[in-house]
Amino acid sequence: MEPYVLEKLKSIFREENPSSYIGEDDNANLSMGGVTVHCHIKDFDVEQVFQVMSGEDDTGWITKGNITVRCHIKGLDVAQVFRTICRTQHILSNRYQHVLENVDIFLHDSLEELRQVGHDYSKHADWIAGIFDGRQVHIVSTRDDGRQNGLYVLLTHELIHLAVCEMSGGKCPYWLDEGLAVHLSQNLPEAYRNTLQMALLTDSILPLEVLETPLPPRTRARERLLAYGQVAAVAAYLVNRYGEQEIGSMIRLFGQDSITNVMAHYELNYTLLKQKWKRYLTTGGVLARKGRV
Ligand SMILES: [Zn+2]
Repeated sequence: MEPYVLEKLKSIFREENPSSYIGEDDNANLSMGGVTVHCHIKDFDVEQVFQVMSGEDDTGWITKGNITVRCHIKGLDVAQVFRTICRTQHILSNRYQHVLENVDIFLHDSLEELRQVGHDYSKHADWIAGIFDGRQVHIVSTRDDGRQNGLYVLLTHELIHLAVCEMSGGKCPYWLDEGLAVHLSQNLPEAYRNTLQMALLTDSILPLEVLETPLPPRTRARERLLAYGQVAAVAAYLVNRYGEQEIGSMIRLFGQDSITNVMAHYELNYTLLKQKWKRYLTTGGVLARKGRV
């Protein structure tokens, strides 16, 4: 594999600079055990106020405007959760002209808990930690493993799905829906990048046609990694080629017309799209124009 392909892969799955998106208005309501506290959530010690002790029921919910987060209060960085939600709302409104108005999020501690709230998890693969079920966002996040960052990636990821669903009436093809969710939420993990690189090298990438709908629950790990890496790369290509505002328009068009017609509107079909996203990754031309080589 040429070195610039790796550089290209790294550059399109870039890190966003973290910053505060809560702003001055950080007022929220925290409710637990019948008690509601109105407070500023920045630098607020939620646990101390509710005197959350080990082993006690710490289920609560936090509301701020039209955002509701149902969660375990203990160990949760409430301000960071809201910062992540607000940041995603900013990305969606500024770049994709979509206002995410009502956000209803469940943060579960375990799969068991997800089942207890009556969610039919059987249709989802057990490797999925976040679900957007068409109405609400459910995230399973054990916060005791030191991987709190995963929670914020999942939050952003699932909120993108929520927005894409609202923009397209649930008709956006999986390769763009999932691709954008991955592209906007994280740097692609190394295992995904390696799998994608290997597939490009051996000409064994998945046909985009089969990625119009989500992967079956029993998909093997390699195909799963490849699919995520591939759709993220396709989304990165499309965003680079058409710009984020136009991708917003494309997502809305999928709600009104067939996938074939929408692609034709952008002078694309699957053969062309495959050529173009692969070329975007594997030629130095794009990098040269950006002055990176
Ligand atoms: Zn997803």
